[in-house]
Amino acid sequence: MQFCNRCNIAITGMKKCCPLCEGELTGEPDMEAAAFPVIRSKKRTFPLLLKVAAFIVLVCCIVLCVLMLALPGKQMWAWLTMLILAITWVDLAVGCRYRYNPIHLVSVELLLFILLLYMIDRVTGMHGWSVTWVNPILFPVAVITQFSIGKGLGMYLDEFIIYPACTAVLSLIQIFFFGQNNFPMPAICSMAILAVTGLGFLIFGFHALREALHRALNL
Ligand SMILES: [Zn+2]
Repeated sequence: MQFCNRCNIAITGMKKCCPLCEGELTGEPDMEAAAFPVIRSKKRTFPLLLKVAAFIVLVCCIVLCVLMLALPGKQMWAWLTMLILAITWVDLAVGCRYRYNPIHLVSVELLLFILLLYMIDRVTGMHGWSVTWVNPILFPVAVITQFSIGKGLGMYLDEFIIYPACTAVLSLIQIFFFGQNNFPMPAICSMAILAVTGLGFLIFGFHALREALHRALNL
């Protein structure tokens, strides 16, 4: 059978070049095989990788549960380890799922990172550092990163504006954490900066934003 490595198809009969791209063929001509192109299937290694990772994470969780039951006292480190293991697995799954979409990948990773730090703060007795300092810094960093990636990859504005716009809106959830925040000034400033940024997107990128929303909502 002859193959076109560029189109990743197998070709029956005896052809001088690929019928799709007119490129060079490799392999020997085969007159008896089926008369249609056979697309070589890609190996699906990622689901297996995720399964193995899930198995390891769950085994670790069982070991940690046994240790928690066996050892006396408060086992905060065990909960923390389980949390980090779980988030690492989600992280891996996100990485596999969006490996061809860097802006989406970075957006989900940053949000997971924000969530992870908040959970660590909670598990370690809620000192409030996550809501006082981490969130107010990371939300603007996320918006700048998303915008830079979109511009850096040469994407059209309507292809990526939805990411920083959603992050700007999402940053308003900091309002709900005022109860756990003894020093809300950074959060207020961060939300104000992102509100101005969001307003900028809305006014100057209105057309792109409308296009993006139409596409996202299938209108
Ligand atoms: Zn070809």
